[in-house]
Amino acid sequence: MKNIIITIDGWSSCGKSTLAKQLAKALGYVYIDSGAMYRAITLYFLRNHINWLNTEDVNNALADITLSFKFNNKTQQSEIYLNEENVEYVIRDLVIAEKVSEIAAIREVRTFAVAQQQKMGEEKGIVMDGRDIGTTVFPDAELKFFMTADIAVRVERRYIEMFEKNPNTSIDDVKANLEMRDYIDSNREISPLRKAADAVELDNTSITIDEQLKIALQLAKERINREQD
Ligand code: C5P
Repeated sequence: MKNIIITIDGWSSCGKSTLAKQLAKALGYVYIDSGAMYRAITLYFLRNHINWLNTEDVNNALADITLSFKFNNKTQQSEIYLNEENVEYVIRDLVIAEKVSEIAAIREVRTFAVAQQQKMGEEKGIVMDGRDIGTTVFPDAELKFFMTADIAVRVERRYIEMFEKNPNTSIDDVKANLEMRDYIDSNREISPLRKAADAVELDNTSITIDEQLKIALQLAKERINREQD
């Protein structure tokens, strides 16, 4: 059976990772959260007080960063490691979300992350979500999705998720952060967030997670079957 590459791009908090995880599980594919890589780099920069406006400092910092994903049998999901430390949970903090888009816009940071992402896709059989996966990382991917949802719905979903972890979270802060990241991500010079010309658009404002999975899985199976011909 020939494997394919599935890319999922879209705005912040429209359920990309939920769909990507479910699709990967259903197909027996690997799931890679590319945003987690940018978040882990941001965590390293903040912890080590890296001056990211200085290219030499950025390059030196990147040389000290090793990122990897390991499957956690307990949580049944793949988790990101920064230099052998599991940072899967700490990178979800709003402190990281506030800086990640600025750091992800840096050329050297993108070159570093994209090279690793492309390596992970060499064997195919992968679902990767992010902002530039269908446009830059895997422009030849066999199946591409571009996800959208109304901003109010996206804010509510992310607020509920963040409130569970930190009851001091304010809905206004969550909204401001989503809007800021979407703005920076879609206006940056290198690999801005765009729908690839051949991506299938999925608006999940008023469909359930199950309905969304059904649509995406059907398309994936059709595409995989075509690959066998
Ligand atoms: O997907 P997630 O919201 O965790 O991504 C965090 C941030 O990482 C995004 O807002 C964006 O700035 C950056 N990112 C990116 N390219 C990707 C994935 C994420 O620039 N492929």
